Amino acid sequence: MLRCSLFLLSLSILLFVACGSGGQPEAETFTEVPRIVDLSYSFEETTLYWPNNKPFQHDEVAYGRTEAGYWYASFNFAASEHGGTHLDAPVHFAEGKQSVEQIPIERHIGPGIKISIAEQVSRDRDYRLTAADILAWEERAGRIPTGAIVLVQTGWGQYWGNRAEYLGSEKQDDASDLHFPGIAADAAELLAGQREVAMVGIDTASLDHGPSRDFIAHRILNGADIPGLENVANLEQLPERGFLVVALPMKIAGGSGAPCRVVALLDAH
Ligand SMILES: [Zn+2]
Repeated sequence: MLRCSLFLLSLSILLFVACGSGGQPEAETFTEVPRIVDLSYSFEETTLYWPNNKPFQHDEVAYGRTEAGYWYASFNFAASEHGGTHLDAPVHFAEGKQSVEQIPIERHIGPGIKISIAEQVSRDRDYRLTAADILAWEERAGRIPTGAIVLVQTGWGQYWGNRAEYLGSEKQDDASDLHFPGIAADAAELLAGQREVAMVGIDTASLDHGPSRDFIAHRILNGADIPGLENVANLEQLPERGFLVVALPMKIAGGSGAPCRVVALLDAH
């Protein structure tokens, strides 16, 4: 049933693309437009970046009427790869692994799975998703398919924009006292080794929880060629499963990460 509805969803997306490139769309080929949830935050100068990372800069080059009378707007931008809604390429924590542009394009699109640990996090802000949490989720919602894009909802999206709450510290030059939830080693091992997922995302600043010193979730997932997605937005708008995720980063050659536009495509009904 799920496989079927995902197929129909994929089909309507393909038809949508086909119509867009071929002039006038034919009514019988355009069945339905899926509902789209934007899972990316806007980039602006207040966007949260990891301590000691260069924040987003957006500098005006031109913004107004030219002498010739037409409108012209243009800006320069600069930032660390790892801030805002972004992708971690496998090379971020695994030597010799893929950089952003080397990730196979097929890996950027997959059936979406959302696992919420918001309840556990409400009791412990440094909580980590465990393998037992994933198995409990599967007991209720079914096995995570190979190639899934797994999104971990901690509820941290409510703090986006508030550095002290979101990172657990306001210090822009010190990453030694951060507090927010993440993913435990046994969960990363289960997702990488036994489920062979395509990607793992989270609604916090890091796959690893704030106090981490060994970044073990990053190392396990990146070591298995699995990219991460961090600071993913609007997860409360998604069901537990039954949607497609499209996560397309800026294609930075040699990049260890990149700003990423992430969307979920849900059945229109
Ligand atoms: Zn990152």
